[in-house]
Amino acid sequence: GLTEKLSNAFKKLRGKGRLTEADVKEAMREIRMALLEADVSYKVVKDFVSKVSERAVGSDVLESLTPAQMIVKIVNEELTALMGGEDAKLTISSKPPTVVMLVGLQGAGKTTNGAKLAGLMKKQGKRPLLAACDIYRPAAIEQLEVVGSQLDIPVFQMGQISPVDIARAAVEHAQKHGSDMVFLDTAGRLHVDEELMMELQDIKNAVEPDEILLVVDAMIGQDAVNAAKAFDDALDLTGVMLTKLDGDARGGAALSIRAVTGKPIKFVGMGEKLDQVEVFHPDRMASRILGMGDVLSLIEKAQESFDLKKAQELEQRLRKNKFTLTDFYDQLTQVKNMGSLSDIAGMLPGVDAKALEGASVDESALGRTEAIILSMTPAEREEPSILNNSRKKRIAAGAGVQVVDVNRLLKQFDAMRQMTKQMTSPRMKKLAKKGRF
Ligand code: GDP
Ligand code: MG
Repeated sequence: GLTEKLSNAFKKLRGKGRLTEADVKEAMREIRMALLEADVSYKVVKDFVSKVSERAVGSDVLESLTPAQMIVKIVNEELTALMGGEDAKLTISSKPPTVVMLVGLQGAGKTTNGAKLAGLMKKQGKRPLLAACDIYRPAAIEQLEVVGSQLDIPVFQMGQISPVDIARAAVEHAQKHGSDMVFLDTAGRLHVDEELMMELQDIKNAVEPDEILLVVDAMIGQDAVNAAKAFDDALDLTGVMLTKLDGDARGGAALSIRAVTGKPIKFVGMGEKLDQVEVFHPDRMASRILGMGDVLSLIEKAQESFDLKKAQELEQRLRKNKFTLTDFYDQLTQVKNMGSLSDIAGMLPGVDAKALEGASVDESALGRTEAIILSMTPAEREEPSILNNSRKKRIAAGAGVQVVDVNRLLKQFDAMRQMTKQMTSPRMKKLAKKGRF
């Protein structure tokens, strides 16, 4: 999938001190392939890649201490911008009823998601009406009546007569009966065709909708983009609703639709249930496409200062339940450059950062820690549980510190042991398998 491809592209960037121009080129080549394979249209990919490259191959990235982070940041920002940048809203008419027309291919989710939107508006205090303008199958009218009754929203239908007449009558009905919004559920076809477009244009001309929303199945990729262009050319859409995002779709369609039509994605359908609808958030979609979230920033941070080989050795020892104060000392030296332990731990899923509060490392503390650990016998370093009071006193004297310092160190050691245990938990291993760690 796209996420995997992108994460592979990023993985190659990690663990390098600096990015060369060749690195950026190589990463961009892979990002381009990944986007194309996710059904993003060629021109969109081309523009996107050149925009990102332009920013990435600047001196900022090349001379940055965290070049991989820079690239991720740029890709994320440009994805967000490509999908519209800001959240969009439904236009509400100053002269009710507001008319919302739902169009799209058969099976895209017009009927279900029109009802979902009406339900959403009802929750916001509106009085919506659903209108059955898909007259080609009696089952379509029935389906609208079923979802309408589930949401307790009235459904206007006149059987299988001209959809233009139904639309006009529905708006009049709404005016008379105090409905302030009308959602027109229209017919679809398996493919874009002239006859359908003419019918939709006739409805548009008859009732002049405030919104013409194209309902698009996110799973159908490039076809969705072609359909979007055809519907936009014929109807001048006001926005798009992307459905079935609860499935495997990684957002390739979302990426190009906005760029190709210039029309905002306003809502997304997240499931078959009638409350599974959300306002579209471009930044969240970008994260979904990148698929990495906080874990990614943790990896970036960790990879810069963590010696991977040592980490692997450590994992081996942890597996054998053999994490010693000697390992602890090694780790402390390494995490010194990563910020405080609680910062790091806070980015790990399922780790309670509070447990590690105050466990940050500073230079002088590190010196004391070194002295304390060096004052221990090898047996004590291997097995800190044997440290009774008299041993602690001896160690404190040898290191030139107080017993309380020895105890604090042991407490930090315990916290570290807890944290590293969690880093090698099944959950983290699963992420590792997915190439996320
Ligand atoms: P229409 O032909 O465009 O009116 O499409 P429908 O509203 O009848 O939906 C077609 C199918 O897609 C139905 O089985 C819906 O339950 C399903 N569906 C619609 N939206 C979503 C969604 O967001 N997620 C999932 N999983 N299924 C959806
Ligand atoms: Mg339908």
